[in-house]
Amino acid sequence: MIDFNILLKLIKEHNSFLLSTHVNPDADALGSQLAMYLILKQNGKKVRVVNHSSTPYNLVFLDKENVIEKYNEIVHKDVFKESDAVILLDLNQANRIIKMEGSFREFKGVKICIDHHQDTENIFDYTFGGPDYSATSEIIYDFIEETGIADLDYNIAYQLYAGIMTDTGSFRFERTSPRIHRIIADLLEKGVDPVEIYDKIYNQFEFGRVKLLGDALSSIQLDSTGKIAFMFLRKEDLLRTGTTEADIDGFVNYCLTIRNIDIGILFYELKDGIKISFRSKGSIQVNKLASQFGGGGHLNASGARLFNTTIEQVKDEVIATAQSFLNNY
Ligand code: 5GP
Ligand code: MN
Repeated sequence: MIDFNILLKLIKEHNSFLLSTHVNPDADALGSQLAMYLILKQNGKKVRVVNHSSTPYNLVFLDKENVIEKYNEIVHKDVFKESDAVILLDLNQANRIIKMEGSFREFKGVKICIDHHQDTENIFDYTFGGPDYSATSEIIYDFIEETGIADLDYNIAYQLYAGIMTDTGSFRFERTSPRIHRIIADLLEKGVDPVEIYDKIYNQFEFGRVKLLGDALSSIQLDSTGKIAFMFLRKEDLLRTGTTEADIDGFVNYCLTIRNIDIGILFYELKDGIKISFRSKGSIQVNKLASQFGGGGHLNASGARLFNTTIEQVKDEVIATAQSFLNNY
């Protein structure tokens, strides 16, 4: 059992908070972060919301009060010093906040993690959540319900709905339980419109994003065992389609739509390295696979970022590692 009263006490005892979330944030990252912002505001706290990445364009609507700041080393020189506590949401390893990592490691105040990934780094003073949760937004829901720290109003419900809906793959991934549907029923009763939120997140993409999906799908290959499907995206593909990294979110799932595939992999080029996304079915723990390349994540969805290397340099090794990984199941 998570003792949310400890988190309640930490919030009551401190005055100024800095909230951050992971690079290239998704709707659970932002939804849980903005819900926590609203909770802290209801409690009269000073709050800054600062992220390494800018908010992906299809999620800007979540930031209704325009409170999210994009981290800038000069502008935010003192932001850690001015905070009593830092809460990182939807991540559990400090390298996931990229440029903010150094200041976070040196931060002398209280370091709090609220997250649902595996393998939490040993750097936090307090962590709340764990991999049984479908979404960080679900943890925030429990926190409110168990402690009564805030009024779970329409605005908070809106954020939590967005986070849970997206992290459960619109209620089809493994942690979609009766309990999740009960939480969702409660959020809908607060007035949240599921059609509106789905439409804003998934039906407002730029034309280029769909073209980019076409590039990813055309690049798909199977390994020699027929159990691993992998795809590639190059810098030129993003340039040609006028898209950004955030547009790639979700593409790798198409690998798993192929019969008999156990692992799906997407390789894509970053400015200064590559990103690898892993997806799996059932009990295959791709977070363990990702951790062999310095990454991590969830049992069925994980990733890694490798700097100063190319797809060509790592591709064969990644696929061979995935094959031997599957051999052990
Ligand atoms: P995606 O492939 O959608 O970017 O990420 C899938 C999951 O893997 C996410 O839940 C994310 O937290 C995790 N993940 C992605 N990239 C990294 C990484 O570089 N390091 C770690 N530790 N986790 C990652
Ligand atoms: Mn999440």
